[in-house]
Amino acid sequence: MSLVIIGLVAVAISAMVLAGLSVRTARCERGNLGWAMTHDHVTGLLSRDGLPALLDSVRGSNRPGHVAVVALEVDKLDSVNRTYGHEVGNALLMAITNQLENALSADEQIVRFAGSQFIVVCPGITDTAQAVERAGDFDKAVGIAFKIGVDQIRITPRIGVTIDKTGDEDPESLVSDALLASAASDRDGAVTLFELSMRSRLSQILTEQRLHAALDNGEFWLLYLPVIETDTNKIVGFEALLRWADPNRGLVPPSDFLDVLERTGLIIPVGAWVIDEACRQAAAWEQQFPGRGLITTLNISRSQLLHADFFDTLTHAATSAAISPENICLEVAEEVLTTNTDVAWTVLRRVKDAGFKLAIDDFGVGFSSLANLRHFKVDILKVGRAFIDRIDDNRENEAIVQQLVALAHALEVVPVAEGVETEAQLITLRSLRCDFAQGYLFSKPEPPATIDKLLSKVTIKPGTGRRSIDWSGS
Ligand code: C2E
Ligand code: CA
Repeated sequence: MSLVIIGLVAVAISAMVLAGLSVRTARCERGNLGWAMTHDHVTGLLSRDGLPALLDSVRGSNRPGHVAVVALEVDKLDSVNRTYGHEVGNALLMAITNQLENALSADEQIVRFAGSQFIVVCPGITDTAQAVERAGDFDKAVGIAFKIGVDQIRITPRIGVTIDKTGDEDPESLVSDALLASAASDRDGAVTLFELSMRSRLSQILTEQRLHAALDNGEFWLLYLPVIETDTNKIVGFEALLRWADPNRGLVPPSDFLDVLERTGLIIPVGAWVIDEACRQAAAWEQQFPGRGLITTLNISRSQLLHADFFDTLTHAATSAAISPENICLEVAEEVLTTNTDVAWTVLRRVKDAGFKLAIDDFGVGFSSLANLRHFKVDILKVGRAFIDRIDDNRENEAIVQQLVALAHALEVVPVAEGVETEAQLITLRSLRCDFAQGYLFSKPEPPATIDKLLSKVTIKPGTGRRSIDWSGS
């Protein structure tokens, strides 16, 4: 059935593709020496590498300041690739290219800047109103429904524009300003004009570029935060926490880059690395300290959990490291249990059936229904730092923690208090019969070599963490 649909799709799009090709081959002289260095092989358009020379030549042959740069980011390419395959995705890309080329005037040029990003260089534009109007023409050309077999895919582009009013702007700045403007647009058909305040987002784009290389360059690390039994101060396990050793900035905490990983989809390969690495480390501790039953906990985001390969990645990592699933616990946010339920629940059920443990992170901040906790036989409830923070001088927080701990016990789930920083908090938690805790009172997140030393002592003296090195980079 799906083969039939793909066959139809290819036919439906190929007419547009061929029309697009004839325009481009004349324009790009495909096959010339050096062509491949500066052109995109899918669309035949100039590639990112050909852009600086293009902008220089445009500025050289025009009066200074008379050029606008339009950035256009199309959506749905990823989902078309996933649903129909790359061939159809490429055909859609060609159809989009064709639409853009049909809207071009003789002296304008299109560049395929990155996967779904196009840049249009428009010489001869002298004011911002004219630039916005011209950008709107490209928006109209692309913001249409493309037919893919029986399906219609409506593209809703983000579109931004900037203009070189003075002739002083360097080509890289013009392009990055246009991209910033498109990133700030709402996909509502309105063109966003670049403003200086948008440049603060630049560091995010640079971060994105560096993160792409970070995995290959071995720049990700895992630190481990010990989990302690409150009665005995015995170490019972660890939470694995991701760090990025950025050559320019040092050790970067996840709050600075997790959203970029999520937005770019890099969370999937990076998350797979985390799973592999944590399983390998858990196996090493199991060998070094046999019989301790240590549990290593991994943070798993919703997009990781919903990814088709997640279960296989997890089981493969545990099997290759030769660590029992019982020693590995997945920590998911409360909201994962309450949204996208069908797929998430199926995966979580498989994970539990395979013997892995399950923890609910930051419990009490959202609201998981009790039914969900029972349904999945959750093993651990982590009581959020927000409640623990002022537990010793705020009766309300103490009452909430008391209720959460009682709830955990009633459901035969183990409560773990997060973010314990003072002796007074620990004493209160003991009195509330909260069995386990983690936080800087015991230890900051540490690399495996430091954890080895802590493990050889079996228990942690409260206060140890406050004297140790701050690896979190904060
Ligand atoms: P989280 O799961 O709530 O992790 C606990 C965070 O609180 C960690 O920050 C930890 O360093 C910090 N923390 C622990 N004890 C204390 C304390 O006593 N006082 C204070 N002030 N802070 C404490 P971190 O490492 O920056 O992680 C932030 C968040 O990033 C984590 O929040 C987790 O949601 C996410 N994260 C970390 N590693 C991964 C990962 O490998 N994959 C995914 N998907 N998310 C991760
Ligand atoms: Ca966590």
